[in-house]
Amino acid sequence: ISLPNFLIFIIMICESVCNNQNSKLAKKLIFQGSSNGIGRETAKIFVKEGAKVTITGRSQSALEETKKLCLEAGAKPDDILELIGDITCEVFNEQLIATTVEKFGRLDVLVNNAGGGTFKAMGTPILEMPLNDFDKMIDLNVKPVLRLSKLAAPHLEKTKGAIINVSSIAAHFRFNGMPFYAASKSALDQITVQLAGSLIKSGIRVNSVNPGPVLTNFVATCGATLEQQAKMYESMTANPAVPLGRIGMPADIGQVILFLADRSKSEILVGQIITADGGSMLQRPVFFKVD
Ligand code: NDP
Repeated sequence: ISLPNFLIFIIMICESVCNNQNSKLAKKLIFQGSSNGIGRETAKIFVKEGAKVTITGRSQSALEETKKLCLEAGAKPDDILELIGDITCEVFNEQLIATTVEKFGRLDVLVNNAGGGTFKAMGTPILEMPLNDFDKMIDLNVKPVLRLSKLAAPHLEKTKGAIINVSSIAAHFRFNGMPFYAASKSALDQITVQLAGSLIKSGIRVNSVNPGPVLTNFVATCGATLEQQAKMYESMTANPAVPLGRIGMPADIGQVILFLADRSKSEILVGQIITADGGSMLQRPVFFKVD
């Protein structure tokens, strides 16, 4: 090997090492709704990749548990910023973005994961549900995404970063029992598409992951009784509701979020609604007859 070629080879190795370090160090993220479930598991997955993360939720004890799990996954104490607050509160949204940028110096990814629903007895007609429940769903599942995206956009523009929304397959079919939740997630999907079209001009990619059933506290926090929860989960594994044959786990969704956050792997995806449901949507009833 000639000396010039040898030098080029060494430079290439150095560049590759630096790039790897940069790609690891560059990931400064906000996971809202990470005191539990999908957000908690996703935070763990990202810290394993060397990311510095802001974790949020209303429950201090649950957030402490997420922090502990992130530390066990290899994070340094200084890599984690914990912020306790209600995501529906405008002041908290401002604090979330400002404090993260102040601590980590930049922002690469915003994961809008916090969300919830109000579980009513299956079969309650939509018109018998209090309209106030609809407002609550929009306040929780939609408005924070818009506010946080607006606050984060100037920082994400600098890093050519990403916004990843966590929606639901409920956005796309008649979700008996939680119609207002489903409607709020449909709205969220439209927000994803609108934001994506608008922010890609600034180099920011916006995408959504729409989980099917995932084993978390979600159904319980929505107010389903233990009996209802048992019936629901049993029906998901005992019949072909999930063709994959198992319910989703938080890490399944975390891996999709990781992929969407990694520009080197998913740059071509802009404004996509990615269904992550073990095939549940394939089981949708057909609404027309051909014979
Ligand atoms: P969990 O109930 O386990 O977690 C929800 C997270 O959101 C918690 O960290 C909770 O924190 C946070 N959160 C909820 N409300 C607020 C609020 N007002 N302010 C701040 N944080 C809040 O549910 P999942 O992990 O399952 O849900 C995560 C996302 O996934 C949601 O958007 C949900 O709609 C979506 N999803 C879930 C599915 C499932 O089957 N599990 C299916 C499809 C979509 P805290 O309680 O500490 O405030």
